[in-house]
Formats: sequence, C-alpha cells, structure tokens
Amino acid sequence: MIIAEQKPVAEIAGYIESCNKVLLVGCGGCVTVCLTGGEKETEILASALRIKRRQEGKPLETVTCVATRQCEPEYIDALDSAVRDVDAIISLACGIGPQYLAGRYKDKYVVSAMNTRFAGGAKRHGFWEEYCGLCGDCVLNLTGGICPVIRCAKSILNGPCGGSQNGKCEINRDVDCAWQLIHDRLKILGRLDTLKEIVPPKDWSRSRDGGPRKMVIEDVMSGSNPEKAN
Ligand code: SF4
Ligand code: SF4
Repeated sequence: MIIAEQKPVAEIAGYIESCNKVLLVGCGGCVTVCLTGGEKETEILASALRIKRRQEGKPLETVTCVATRQCEPEYIDALDSAVRDVDAIISLACGIGPQYLAGRYKDKYVVSAMNTRFAGGAKRHGFWEEYCGLCGDCVLNLTGGICPVIRCAKSILNGPCGGSQNGKCEINRDVDCAWQLIHDRLKILGRLDTLKEIVPPKDWSRSRDGGPRKMVIEDVMSGSNPEKAN
C-alpha cells in the first residue's frame, strides 16, 4: 500500500491564499486505509482551512468529496461538475492523484495536500513500515522473502555488512539487521547454502532511472478507452 501523510495545514493554506472557494478531494484507496486522506480526514482538513481563514478575516468556502480512487480516470469523471466554480482543487491522494487531476482539469490550480512516503505494510493499527522500494527487479526469491534493498540500511545484496550486533543493524539498535533476518529465514528453510551464492548486480534499468515506468496487459488494454487523465 502507498503510505502518504498530510502536509501541515499552514503549508496547505499558504498555497491557496488567493482562493475564495476550493474543492477538497479525498481518495478511497491507500490514503483511506492509512487514515490520512479519506472522507474523515478530508472533512477535518476543510474545516481546519476554513477556521484558519476565518481567523485571518478572509473566509474560505469549501466543497468536499471523495473519489473512489484518484489513480483511475473513470473515478475522476464524477468530479467534473464539482470543479467548475472553484478556484483550486486540493487533492488528498498520493502523488498520482494531483497529477491526474491536473491532467484532466488543465485550467485549474491543483494543490497536493500530501507527502507521499513509501510502499508499506501495516505492523499494527496506525503503524506502517516500508517494505518495498518498487525497484522493478525483485530479489526476494534469493533472500528468503526479506527485501535487502529496503530493509537493509545499506541496501546490500550480498550481506551482511559486518556491523550487525545481536541481530540489530549498526545504524540503529532498534532496527533488525535485514541480513540477520535473511540468514535466520534461510536456515529455517534449510537453504543456508543460498548465502554462498553471489547475487549479481540488479537490473537497475527497470527502476526509476529510465523515466516513468509502464506496465501493459495487452488483452485488457485492447478493449479499453484511450487514456483520459493527461
Ligand atoms: S527487491 Fe525490489 S521489488 Fe523486491 S521487495 Fe525489494 S524493493 Fe521491492
Ligand atoms: S547491519 Fe545488517 S541491516 Fe544494517 S547495514 Fe549492515 S547488513 Fe544492512
């Protein structure tokens, strides 16, 4: 799941200083699950912005709605009438949402209310941790299902680095050494010999370096409408 957190209200308010009426758009996807951009958070942000502006003597009118997902054009269609008479659209989605909104409503000022952080998993209710860096060339099958790219502080593919003590990483004694975890897991699986194999350099061309990445499923694509967001 994509984890995103809200920017400070003062920062968001700064972007819309010159606006009289804004539309706040929440997202029903990841940011609803991580409790930062769903219906409740959208209403709270709208209220906070109105209060701030009232205190400053420059009242702000807000309209709110929540798209099922802002990362799919078909769900943005529903906003067409709501955006018409607003001065700005504030997106509470991850970084995809404001870009899709800006692509669709080219004459509208789109503000992102969020800082998009990482691809995380839930550890407990209200606690998420990064598990995948979306590198595009996954090595989990060589590392007992534990990602060294993200969970090792040095992203070492052939670990450990030698700084681990009592199973903890040298950068922080509260952080498990990923390579200790990998060792322990491979031991349970009876596959410790895997550690003797040198993991070759990853294919980083499949990561971010080549510009925006794409994935196409041909038979699904052939029956769908042309891309509408941009
Ligand atoms: S190796 Fe890459 S794709 Fe696999 S879990 Fe780690 S960052 Fe994600
Ligand atoms: S101690 Fe372990 S997790 Fe930390 S950098 Fe070294 S190998 Fe990676």
